[in-house]
Amino acid sequence: MKVLLVLYDGGKAAEEEPRLLGTIQNKLGIADWLKEQGHELVATADKEGEGSEFKKHIVDAEVLITTPFHPGYLTKEVMQTAKNLKICITAGVGSDHVDLNAANERNITVAEVSGSNVVSVAEHVVMSILLLVRNYTPAHEQIIGGGWDVAPMARHSFDLEDKVVGTVGAGRIGYRVLQRLTPFDCKELLYFDYAPLPEQAAKAINVRRVESLEEMVSQCDIVTVNCPLHEKTKGLFNKELISKMKPGAWLVNTARGAICDAQAVADAVNSGHLGGYAGDVWNVQPAPKDHPWRSMKHPLGGGNGMVPHMSGTTIDAQLRYAEGTKTILQNYLTGKAQDPANLIVENGDYVSKAYGKRDTKAEERKEEVRTD
Ligand code: NAD
Repeated sequence: MKVLLVLYDGGKAAEEEPRLLGTIQNKLGIADWLKEQGHELVATADKEGEGSEFKKHIVDAEVLITTPFHPGYLTKEVMQTAKNLKICITAGVGSDHVDLNAANERNITVAEVSGSNVVSVAEHVVMSILLLVRNYTPAHEQIIGGGWDVAPMARHSFDLEDKVVGTVGAGRIGYRVLQRLTPFDCKELLYFDYAPLPEQAAKAINVRRVESLEEMVSQCDIVTVNCPLHEKTKGLFNKELISKMKPGAWLVNTARGAICDAQAVADAVNSGHLGGYAGDVWNVQPAPKDHPWRSMKHPLGGGNGMVPHMSGTTIDAQLRYAEGTKTILQNYLTGKAQDPANLIVENGDYVSKAYGKRDTKAEERKEEVRTD
């Protein structure tokens, strides 16, 4: 069996730090285990373009493993060349790099390590909200640059207390973000999600569901995006929706870059309509040097909390998603049923309810509690 691993090149850092498991150097810690069983393993970071190693090896790979941090984009066209492909495993959470409808047509299973990095991301979201609201980044840059000038920093610095915060998507991450915000005494916590939270879970953190996205964003000082990327969420935060946000509101997106229209976000930050934008996910990864999110800036300075895709790949998270990947692979190799919580699509249908409201078997599964 041929297993294709598409991971990023961790360079010297990965040679020095073996716990950087999501790299071609450390291969999720499964290289020896696979070799001992006589399987072929190809690990590459070269994923773009017709001549890439990814395109070359996907042709006869049975298993594709990739991370959302450096994804091998499995489009319908690429999938058509993948004659032996049976299962795609996402070492992490978020499988939008696979054309899921095409996977269903081909009966390819797509599984991910659900829950493996949701705390890591939720912590990053809370940090991003704070660094935007407190105007942290330009103040820190001022200090590094040898300066000391309080007023221009303080004029765009606020308290999180008494602000309204809303999440788009209240699944594992969205719920954990709200949970972590409760001690900040926000004015109100809101959520927009077609799947309502279990009553007890909503009550425990005193969160109110808003039925319309436009209505929710127009009430929020801070909006955090925590839903998967699918047909209904691609470009969701466009010029029109952003114009409905309160002037000066902050937007944090650690879900997927393509959920936001890149230029519309940059324009809104540059004009000051948005107080700032932060996140770690980009519509193209690696992001090009001239991506507008690298240079966008609020008229008062700051307002840019962008980092490379890293929120869900802390060392702790890498250990969890590497272990989870091995379990999914082991289940596949031994013919054992996968944990349904890890399945996105299987047997030609969606198992996960999170990739859009649709008329599938997944919609009938009422028993799943998404905040587990
Ligand atoms: P989850 O499946 O537990 O929750 C997703 C929630 O989004 C579900 O409740 C679903 O009903 C809701 N949703 C789907 N479409 C929606 C829409 N149109 N409007 C509102 N809500 C909608 O998933 P999760 O573990 O919370 O992860 C969410 C996403 O975060 C992942 O799909 C992934 O894209 C992203 N993520 C990013 C990182 C990172 O490192 N930046 C790491 C992990 C996950």
